[in-house]
Amino acid sequence: MLKRKPEPDTATQRQLELVLRSVAEAITVQDPDGRLIFANDAAAEMVGFPSAEALIAARPEERMAGFEVLDEEGAPLGLETLPGRRALAGVDNEQIIRYRIRATGEERWSIVRGAPFPDPESGWTLAINTFHDITDRVLAERRLAFLAEASERLGAASLDWEETLHELARLAIPMLADWCIVDVLEEDGQTLRQVTVAAAEPSKEAVLREMRERYRPTVDSPQPAAKALREGVTVFYGDFTPESLRATTRDDYHYELIQRLDPHAAIAVPLIARGHTVGSVTLAFAESKRSYDATDVDLAEELARRAAFAVDNARLYRAEQEAGERLAFLAEVGRVLGSALDYEATLKRVAELAVTRLANWCAIHMLDDAGEIRQLTVTHRDEEMIPIAAEISARMPVDRGGRFGVTNVIQTGRSELFQTIPDALLVNVTAGDEELLTEVRKLGLVSLMCVPLIARGRVLGASTLLGDEPKRRFAEEDLAEAEELARRAAIAVDNARLFREAERRADAARVLAYIGDGVVLLDNEGVVRLWNRAAETITGLRARDVVGHRMVSAVPGWSAIANRVPVATAPGTGSHAESLPLELTDRELWLSISGVDFPEGIVYAFRDLTEERALDRLKNDFVSTVSHELRTPLAAIYGAALTLRRADVTLAEEQRDRLLVVVANEADRLARTVDDILWTSRLDTDTLQVAIGSCDARTLTEDVLSSAETHLPDNITLDLEAPADLPLVAGDPDKIRQVLANLVENAVKYSPDGGAVAVSLEQRNGTVRFTVSDRGLGIPAGERERIFDKFFRLDPEMTRGVGGTGLGLYICRELVRRMNGRIWVEARDGAGSKFSFELPTHEKGAAEAAPDPSS
Ligand code: ADP
Repeated sequence: MLKRKPEPDTATQRQLELVLRSVAEAITVQDPDGRLIFANDAAAEMVGFPSAEALIAARPEERMAGFEVLDEEGAPLGLETLPGRRALAGVDNEQIIRYRIRATGEERWSIVRGAPFPDPESGWTLAINTFHDITDRVLAERRLAFLAEASERLGAASLDWEETLHELARLAIPMLADWCIVDVLEEDGQTLRQVTVAAAEPSKEAVLREMRERYRPTVDSPQPAAKALREGVTVFYGDFTPESLRATTRDDYHYELIQRLDPHAAIAVPLIARGHTVGSVTLAFAESKRSYDATDVDLAEELARRAAFAVDNARLYRAEQEAGERLAFLAEVGRVLGSALDYEATLKRVAELAVTRLANWCAIHMLDDAGEIRQLTVTHRDEEMIPIAAEISARMPVDRGGRFGVTNVIQTGRSELFQTIPDALLVNVTAGDEELLTEVRKLGLVSLMCVPLIARGRVLGASTLLGDEPKRRFAEEDLAEAEELARRAAIAVDNARLFREAERRADAARVLAYIGDGVVLLDNEGVVRLWNRAAETITGLRARDVVGHRMVSAVPGWSAIANRVPVATAPGTGSHAESLPLELTDRELWLSISGVDFPEGIVYAFRDLTEERALDRLKNDFVSTVSHELRTPLAAIYGAALTLRRADVTLAEEQRDRLLVVVANEADRLARTVDDILWTSRLDTDTLQVAIGSCDARTLTEDVLSSAETHLPDNITLDLEAPADLPLVAGDPDKIRQVLANLVENAVKYSPDGGAVAVSLEQRNGTVRFTVSDRGLGIPAGERERIFDKFFRLDPEMTRGVGGTGLGLYICRELVRRMNGRIWVEARDGAGSKFSFELPTHEKGAAEAAPDPSS
């Protein structure tokens, strides 16, 4: 209704009124005094008046009493700056006006336009105000901005989830609450922990804190936070009545505190991320007297979702980081374990690592070879505690047979975890030792886990980890980590043991390689699995040609003796080795061989007896030769003596002389045979003295030859060829004479058909060489080395009737060696042989000490 000072034209007025009234927007018209001369119903409704008439009738103070006018930022606005006033001054203007309805606390926004309207009739300028409500738009924009900011702030704080929740609380005020509380669920899944509170009125923050301190909600307590958590949906408290308020408290004081907070309306929103509830946020309007409408709830839930997401992210990140730390820790463990082959030291190190990260106290028990459980190490994070931990551990009986224990874990191969150690457990593990029990209780142990050390399916031991402070309450992740640590340690221990075993085997293999006995391993199929170095050396057959083949096909001659080799059924029950000939392709070996049967096959061990066999044969030959050598002269002497003694026969002087010469010669031959044996024995026992001096080779040779001449057969001639200017020889003259005499004697002896025996002397590179050549039987090339061996004779059966002991050349070689010379034999062109020996020349002033006989 338009109320005008001058009487208006009522027809026009009615039309205008009709139009203005039907418009949904609030419209008022003011006269130059600021009084309303028109208002439509929308305008009345907007400012809380029952009708347009009532609004127009009201005085300006009354009109404004129901609300506060604010500018866009929320600061009080003077009435004179409102668009209507400016329109009256002739300015067409527009402004966003915010106003709070005192009765409900609700805030609204309008775009208000003030337009000057010159009234032609009165000449006045009126102000036409139009109000366009933009509250929904503003709120939507604010919510968007709020959420954007929330996201940004929550995101920024994301790595510290507690900080994230502080942000959440700060954000909620004043947009969503006058005070708020954020609680999170503890890891035990039961208790709620207040993370943060915030209040528009600072005094209320203290009250909130006190309340949360005293009345910590649990999952089943009456507070809204707990209810939201339980139900997983937003809990809504529209208007609190004393009763409904009391229902959310636990006792009178709690109620008193909550009354001081004076909640008008409240909601509790669960913080849910990835399907699980991590906490809840309680929002309350108090002094602002606002209530929660659906939009507020949506916004709060959106905020809670973002916060929960940030918390979850932070927790995931923290878990990830912990996993990273775990990985780094395990890498360190791996390094320690990988580098160590001494497993005891390794496990000590593992225990030390475990107390740097997992536990306060770690003990490791191992099963020993006898299957006994033995404590290997115990350590404590606090160095001062190590002796105490060690002492208590040592006194802790291992085999206590209870439900819990190292024994149990080792027997079952299953871990045990006690997040909280029941006292009954302590009683059990201390097995009735009261004093020990008291000490263990004093340690204030909280958590315990015991994990088996398992490798290749076998339990090797167990590792016990203890935590003695609330923070060390072991969770499933700790158990998993301890198990991983134990698994790695067990593998390392197993490796170390395998390595030790392999080393032992390698040692055995080395021994097998170096022992002088041939060792052969045949599997049950008769295939050679091992053929050691000595077996190679003795047989001349390479391992690569034998191993993997059947022994009967790889080793010639084996099949002929295989059945004759004695085989014991168990090591140590030793059957005697048998001497058996092994006919190889190119030679015969004499082996002293025996075998041991074992489940996987047979091991043969053998020694080469070929040399000993040959020596034995030579000795046998020697005995028969020597018998002959002794018997022949003895028979001759005996015959001569008998003849000389005969009374019935008168011997001519000449006959007697001949017989006496025979006696003398044969006695001499006997003496020489006996001498040979004596010399040999002295050489063998190393009791022969050689006195190196200087001697004239020529004179010495002439002596030997002239003595040989005395009993030289008629068909032999002796010649000497020697330069006049020979140097002196460094040697023992008697020994040189003996060697030379022996060679000349042999030359004569082994020339049964006669011939010239030539002796020559010559100087050669600091030596004098003596050579005796004959035209006799000669020596086959293959035997030229062996004729210098003890007892060796080319013709032991004496088919040519030439006797001897087989010792002469052996003695010669040994004497020449002891005088630092050498002796050898060569073939001579045509027939016969050529023996030579060389001795060093005598240097003036050179030492004449006897050389080392071993050289
Ligand atoms: P024996 O007492 O048998 O002569 P030796 O040691 O002096 O012992 O000689 C060993 C063997 O060497 C002899 O049995 C003989 O067969 C051979 N032998 C030694 N000297 C000669 C030689 N000048 N000509 C041929 N054979 C020889």
